[in-house]
Amino acid sequence: MKEEINIVWFKRDLRLKDHPPLKTAIDDGKPILMLYVLEPSIISTPYSDERHWRFIIESIYDLNEKLKRCHQEIYIFYGEIIPILEKIIHRYKVKSILSHQETGTWLTYQRDIQVKKFLKEKGIPWIEFQNNAVIRGLKSRDSWNEKRNEYISKTIENPVLEKLISFELDYDIRNSFSADKFLSTINFNHSMQVGGETEAEKVLLSFLKVRHIGYIKNISKPEESRNKCSRLSPYIAYGNLSIKQIQQAKNEFYSVSPSKRDLLAFESRLVWHCHFIQKLETEPEYEFRNINSAYNDIRTDWNENYFNAWKNGLTGYPLVDACIRCVIETGYINFRMRAMLVSFLTHHLWLDWKEGANFLAKQFLDFEPGIHFPQFQMQAGTTGINTIRIYNPTKQALENDPDAIFIKKWLPELRNLPSHLAIEPWKITPLEELMFNFKYGKNYPKRIIDTDITYRQASKILWNIKKSQKSQSEAEKILSKHVKLN
Ligand SMILES: Cc1cc2nc3c(=O)[nH]c(=O)nc-3n(C[C@H](O)[C@H](O)[C@H](O)COP(=O)(O)OP(=O)(O)OC[C@H]3O[C@@H](n4cnc5c(N)ncnc54)[C@H](O)[C@@H]3O)c2cc1C
Repeated sequence: MKEEINIVWFKRDLRLKDHPPLKTAIDDGKPILMLYVLEPSIISTPYSDERHWRFIIESIYDLNEKLKRCHQEIYIFYGEIIPILEKIIHRYKVKSILSHQETGTWLTYQRDIQVKKFLKEKGIPWIEFQNNAVIRGLKSRDSWNEKRNEYISKTIENPVLEKLISFELDYDIRNSFSADKFLSTINFNHSMQVGGETEAEKVLLSFLKVRHIGYIKNISKPEESRNKCSRLSPYIAYGNLSIKQIQQAKNEFYSVSPSKRDLLAFESRLVWHCHFIQKLETEPEYEFRNINSAYNDIRTDWNENYFNAWKNGLTGYPLVDACIRCVIETGYINFRMRAMLVSFLTHHLWLDWKEGANFLAKQFLDFEPGIHFPQFQMQAGTTGINTIRIYNPTKQALENDPDAIFIKKWLPELRNLPSHLAIEPWKITPLEELMFNFKYGKNYPKRIIDTDITYRQASKILWNIKKSQKSQSEAEKILSKHVKLN
């Protein structure tokens, strides 16, 4: 007789606390196969990067350390999910599969449709739980805020790990889908944020206790934001912490905080998190088509040289170049700099947003499709419902990095220049070139475009479209579906 088990399929919920699928499975009293699947079809997508998989593996290793005391583990498999499930179902009597709902990319969405169909044919229920405040099948956004608040304030019931029943997975299955080869290719020696529930809790505590003081003042500054923003994004993206846990922890610290305004501003971002993901949940096409079709006929020419300059940090605009080099190296830059990079790509270089969205998704350790693609479209001005923002990278540098500390950190070739020239190297005089032993155009590239000119060009086109009948009628439809929050 086949042994009866439940499967908990871990996705973007790599934690052991506030985990309803795991709790429900444990409460059911059957042995549990806890599973994470590294899917080659997803690993090979243009927005996937080693950094994401490493963060995931670090997270699972952290959970497995905690599970050791219960002699259990989350099994990491390499392969496509359906053949894996097929083999498990052949060997075990699977009572149900439990997981969180995933608002992922088009690929994971299609994969889930296939999994649903497959499990239906096998007669195995797939019980999916709501992920954060993102509501599946939402008909209207009218009462979303109330529903969100209600969900977020509910008491957290953690799974009782001690109740896990001993289970050891069949060797043949483990061997068939072993991830060892893939894992051996991952470089764990790195300088990015480290994944895991343990690390996530430390980062949250340090923010709530001390680091949040000065959050608003520093949020747009590329250097200071690295310490003054919460830095919780990858932990949220991979579910090391739930939004409910963070919100409730914030509530606990609020009364003793000397800087309540900062905590309130942070809290509003937690709302934005689910607000944006809800957009992709409702309209997965955000990933690959202009959400407002009035913008379909712009940016039709592709300039590979411009794109290469942008993605290699060689545009000749120091703040743009520093941001790109920083994000490649560390996996992080703050919100304003992300918006500026998109603005530079789409407004100043006048390139379509999709290639850039994939490139930055690869670099962002916190890549979260539901925030990334809607934010990208918002900044590229293809929604028709948001204010058109064309950032001037020099003005951004003067305001947010006036001493060029961030710029010099990431562009060593500008280190010998005084800060005003590191921000605007094109203003260097021949005499200064001699003084600072720096040749403009040789030690650092000349500007590939002039933002004063490109600003005017982009602004004219975008405002004309925004005023058009087509854009406005599309915008009305978009607003009725998605609601504008900011
Ligand atoms: C083009 C573009 C792409 C982006 N892609 C991503 C992405 O892939 N993943 C991601 O997590 N964030 C993304 N963001 C949003 C934002 O830049 C990051 O969430 C933030 O910089 C992360 O730093 P933090 O955790 O210190 O944020 P904090 O300021 O401390 O905010 C706390 C949390 O709130 C959420 N949040 C903050 N700002 C926003 C926002 N504007 N919209 C939605 N949620 C927000 C995040 O989960 C964040 O961790 C993107 C922004 C832009 C402009």
